[in-house]
Amino acid sequence: MISQHDCSARDLDDALAPLRRQFDLPSGVIYLDGNSLGARPSAALARAQYVIAAEWGTDLIRSWNTAGWFDMPKRLGDRLAPLIGAEAGEVVITDTTSINLFKALAAALQMQAGDAQRAERRVIVSERSNFPTDLYMAQGLAAWLDRGYSLRLVDDPAELATAIDADCAVAMLTHVNYRTGYQHDMATVSGHCHAQGALALWDLAHSAGAVPLDLNADGADLAVGCTYKYLNGGPGAPAFIWVPARHQARFRQPLSGWWGHAAPFAMEPGFAPADGIGRALCGTQPIVSLALVECGLDIFAQTTMEAIRRKSLALTDLFISLVEQRCASHPLGLVTPREHARRGSQVSFTHPHGYSVMQALIARGVIGDYREPAIMRFGFTPLYTSFTDVWDAVEILRDILDTQAYDIAAKRDTVT
Ligand SMILES: *Cc1c(COP(=O)(O)O)cnc(C)c1O
Repeated sequence: MISQHDCSARDLDDALAPLRRQFDLPSGVIYLDGNSLGARPSAALARAQYVIAAEWGTDLIRSWNTAGWFDMPKRLGDRLAPLIGAEAGEVVITDTTSINLFKALAAALQMQAGDAQRAERRVIVSERSNFPTDLYMAQGLAAWLDRGYSLRLVDDPAELATAIDADCAVAMLTHVNYRTGYQHDMATVSGHCHAQGALALWDLAHSAGAVPLDLNADGADLAVGCTYKYLNGGPGAPAFIWVPARHQARFRQPLSGWWGHAAPFAMEPGFAPADGIGRALCGTQPIVSLALVECGLDIFAQTTMEAIRRKSLALTDLFISLVEQRCASHPLGLVTPREHARRGSQVSFTHPHGYSVMQALIARGVIGDYREPAIMRFGFTPLYTSFTDVWDAVEILRDILDTQAYDIAAKRDTVT
């Protein structure tokens, strides 16, 4: 049996523990929702004040050059690159994940259409359990193109081997599933895509900053992801898009705004794409929000994704073990894979009253979230979550289940 003392001993032994002091978390809260909105790096407040007061307020329009505003999507993309196995010049931080997915999917379809061997392919493979915006964006693009593209959705990752076939243009997959925490084997799936002549487009929303990634080595073709989840960039912070050097010359995306132009300040009437990753940009970026992304990246620069992964697996293993030991009499069902290689940095349990139990947890300061159907989702962020947090969260969960305190929460829900 694991004891509270075991957990505090692991905190004393944890090399990442001091990084928690670089985040501002309210007291009395155990935050297990960094997979949805990362916590605030302490430095973000002063950084926002500086950008607003000094760069905007005093330097005004000169800041596009003097404060490096114009170069920020690329400069911060270069800082993110090592966390995802990309090279400098392959990533920009810009726009939203939904918009970047649209650009990447459109570019991937066009790359295939421009290849005589593959031009007839009309199938986009994805998963029915993918995050809805990914499916919606693909549906919107396919309908708008009106060239017979359709989505082929699988219900189980094992079906990908047959679904990605000679008709498939692109497999558009989310590397770690937002609901279950299931992690694909990127190298194997990308390799299968290539064997079938398809491209592999990966959404890293629940992977970047959560699990080690090696996009180039694993044969990914294109990728997008969020900065406001595990990367702690702030609410609505701009997302990222990765286009590897080997695909950049053929990468053409339809949102051909002036920031993606080869010579944006030449003000020419005709569009000519920039060389390199700049062609993935569209227009003017939300500078205040973009600047805050760096505060999260500054913290990642003090450790490695390998160290983060080790602690992430230790935290999720501990949570699973404690829930199974201490809440054994309750009808909780583990949804997340036990196998480390198939697990992201979250743990999901079903419970028949999952929604009400989660409301009761939040009322007692344990912030996770709920996703249909009946799934309670707990995200584990090694930069600021301790082993004692895991112990305390499970004790509160056990108390709520033992006392059926969630019934009270459920009644309150119907009133508000
Ligand atoms: C969180 C998430 C998104 C969010 O997209 P936005 O454009 O930022 O709203 C997209 N895809 C996946 C898989 C996600 O988990």
